Amino acid sequence: MPLLPLPEIRPQREEDLRSAFWEQVKTIPQGQKIQECIQCGTCTGSCPVSYMMDITPREIVALFRAGHIEDILHSRAIWICASCYACRVRCPSGILVTDMMYALKRLAMEKRVYPPKFPIYALSKAFIDNIYKYGRNFEMGLAIKYFLKAEPMKLLANAAFGMSMMKRGRIDITPNKIRKVKDIRAIIDKARQLHLHPSSAAATAQELHG
Ligand code: SF4
Ligand code: SF4
Repeated sequence: MPLLPLPEIRPQREEDLRSAFWEQVKTIPQGQKIQECIQCGTCTGSCPVSYMMDITPREIVALFRAGHIEDILHSRAIWICASCYACRVRCPSGILVTDMMYALKRLAMEKRVYPPKFPIYALSKAFIDNIYKYGRNFEMGLAIKYFLKAEPMKLLANAAFGMSMMKRGRIDITPNKIRKVKDIRAIIDKARQLHLHPSSAAATAQELHG
C-alpha cells in the first residue's frame, strides 16, 4: 500500500511524463512494486555513489510518488547511478530500484528532459554509436563526439592530454572494427525496437522471467 496519497490534480506535463514512465515500467517484471516503497532508506544507505547524487535513491521514489517526476529527470542522480544493483538486492520491499533508474534514463532520453550543465547523456549516446559502428569502443572518437556536443571549448583544452595518451599507446588514433560487427548491430537494433514498442518488451521480459 502506498504510504502517501498521490496528489489528485497534477499538471498536464507531469501526467504525460508519468504515463510515459509507466510504459517504460511495463518492460520491468514487477515494476509496479515501486508503489510499495516504505521509505526505509536502505537503498540510499547501500548506494556507493549516493554521496554524489543531488537526490538520493530513496528521495527519487518519494518524489515520484509525490507527483514530481520532472524534478527527478532534471536531477543528476539517475545519470550518476553506477548500476551496481546493491539497492535492488537489499530493498525489503523487493523494488527493482536499479531497473527504475534505467526506466527513468530511457524516459529522460525519450522526452529530452535532462539536468542542466550535465550532458552525460551525450557521452552515453556517443558510446552506443561507437559500439554500433565498430562493435567496440573507440575512445578518441568518443571524446571528440562528446566534447563537440557538450563542451566544445574543452576540446582544445584536452587535446594535449589526448596526444600524450596516444603517444603512450593508451588510446588508438583510428577505430578497430571487430569481426562479426553485424551480430552486435542486430542486438542493438533489437533493443531499440523493444524500446520503441514497450508492449513487446514487456512480453519479452515476461518470457525471460516466467
Ligand atoms: S530500500 Fe526499497 S523500500 Fe526502502 S526506501 Fe529504498 S526503494 Fe523504498
Ligand atoms: S544501482 Fe545505482 S542507485 Fe542502486 S545502489 Fe547501485 S549506484 Fe546506487
